[in-house]
Amino acid sequence: MENIKNYINGELVEPLSKKYLDNYDPSKGKVYSYIPDSDEKDVELAYEAANKAFHKWSLTPKDKRSEYLLKIAALIEKNIDKLALAESIDNGKPLKLAKTIDIPRAASNFHFYGTGILHYAANAHSMEDNAINYTLRQPVGVAGCISPWNLPLYLFSWKIAPALAAGCTVVAKPSEVTPMTAYLLSEICIEAGLPPGVLNIVHGLGAKVGNAIVSHKNIPLISFTGGTSTGKQIAAIAAPMFKKLSLELGGKNPNIIFADCDYDKMLATTLLSSFANQGQICLCGSRIFVERKIYDKFKNDFVTKTKTLIVGNPLDEKTKVGAIVSKIHFEKILSYIELAKREGGKILCGGKPITVSGEFSEGYYIEPTIIEGLDYNCRTNQEEIFGPVVTITPFDTEEEVLRMANSTIYGLASVLWTQDLTRAHRIANTIHAGIVWINCWLLRDLRTPFGGVKASGVGREGGFEALDFFTEPKNVCIKL
Ligand code: NAD
Repeated sequence: MENIKNYINGELVEPLSKKYLDNYDPSKGKVYSYIPDSDEKDVELAYEAANKAFHKWSLTPKDKRSEYLLKIAALIEKNIDKLALAESIDNGKPLKLAKTIDIPRAASNFHFYGTGILHYAANAHSMEDNAINYTLRQPVGVAGCISPWNLPLYLFSWKIAPALAAGCTVVAKPSEVTPMTAYLLSEICIEAGLPPGVLNIVHGLGAKVGNAIVSHKNIPLISFTGGTSTGKQIAAIAAPMFKKLSLELGGKNPNIIFADCDYDKMLATTLLSSFANQGQICLCGSRIFVERKIYDKFKNDFVTKTKTLIVGNPLDEKTKVGAIVSKIHFEKILSYIELAKREGGKILCGGKPITVSGEFSEGYYIEPTIIEGLDYNCRTNQEEIFGPVVTITPFDTEEEVLRMANSTIYGLASVLWTQDLTRAHRIANTIHAGIVWINCWLLRDLRTPFGGVKASGVGREGGFEALDFFTEPKNVCIKL
């Protein structure tokens, strides 16, 4: 079985402790490789390498930095089959999804920031005829980037690409639950000739490696994507150290369906926004609110369609719902289904684990689950489940649905289905969310600001916002 290695100072290295953790294939529930159980000593080595590389990298002309990023993008594209297979095995997601979304998007991230940096410009402010101010945007330094398991390479590269483009060097930690494609990315960076120390990837546990990055006194910036409670811990450490912080956290997104929607389009998209990636996308709409006039029709059609989704071997072309990422997460999701029952919810379909035959019999599979009859304020409707579980709730008025939609601590994304443009704009203006999709879902333009409000995060990724984050503005004022 393969030992994953850290990528430090341009080389693939073992953790100093020589200790490893088990890495599971969730589709089979079996260990299939080992991941470095790194600690603060490995992080220190990575930091030293990144710090040594920073001066030269930050002064490397942006078109040269761009060339490296474009080379990495091209190599990701060239290795799409290998990377998609690795992502599917490591995460449990359908291979088709990894091949059509995750890996192409990781390549796009490098491509986007490889070209974006060439168009990034700063402002000048003239003061009538007696002075001029101009803003320098300088890379902050060694950036700490920490990412989750749900879209492993996609979200890892969403941080690393803008950081490198901006001229920062990086100490990065992928999720210990899905480390494989970050490891393959280190091989790609070596092949692309990325100078040693520019990107360093340290594998291991959040409490050890993640914590060492966050609390490192010379890492001035942390870009984190993950759970809200982890974000809170990170903020508690980083804020008193006055670090720059970008936190992309959890969600409990509403999907609001009005009777005047384009019904067929809504139904097909709602199936995806509920169960794609086993519901483990921070942008999935897990609370579905349906105007009462079409509630019964929607309920019947949605349940019928959901029952046709094939759950099983992620490598099978026909599979629509793969394995849950880990045993712990599998148990968490099932415990929420039990909670929903205790809270008075009626399971309309799903609700149980599935045993898939043959070599997949120990894998972590859960039936796509639809629950109705719950109060919008109950825990099932307020807490993030992050699995193939949605609730459906009828509503009568716009005011009522907005109250329910805005009732959680979260505010990441929202989905709205209506043909009434005025209403769509009105709701978009009032809803608590960083992203509002109207008559679509997961349509992404990488130039747009990405992130959430309330407990869903602090700051924005995407477009020039990310380049702003990885650079520090400095105002220079010249008296004429
Ligand atoms: P998590 O918070 O458990 O872990 C995320 C990362 O943080 C991992 O790499 C982990 O090792 C590390 N980590 C854990 N404890 C740490 C600590 N004390 N210090 C530093 N690092 C630490 O989250 P997860 O379970 O991997 O991912 C699921 C969560 O991520 C969900 O809540 C989901 O909504 C959220 N998410 C948010 C977005 C977004 O853009 N807002 C995108 C994807 C996922």
